[in-house]
Amino acid sequence: MAAPRTYTPQEASPGPTFTCPRCQRSYPYPHDYDRPIRCECGWWYTNVGHSTIVEEFRPRIGGSDADAPQYD
Ligand SMILES: [Zn+2]
Repeated sequence: MAAPRTYTPQEASPGPTFTCPRCQRSYPYPHDYDRPIRCECGWWYTNVGHSTIVEEFRPRIGGSDADAPQYD
């Protein structure tokens, strides 16, 4: 007999969010020194500590970007 699973709806996830000022997409707020938010519109948002967000525009041109830092 399989154990029952509990699925948590997305709407129930608490926590602060970061909204991209360019395209208004919302993401979970990046923790200090965490991996950057890579927004669909091409802007990256990196929390460099003390909730300071650094913005950087990295448009996706033709897929892989050799200059992009690897965080995954
Ligand atoms: Zn965006």
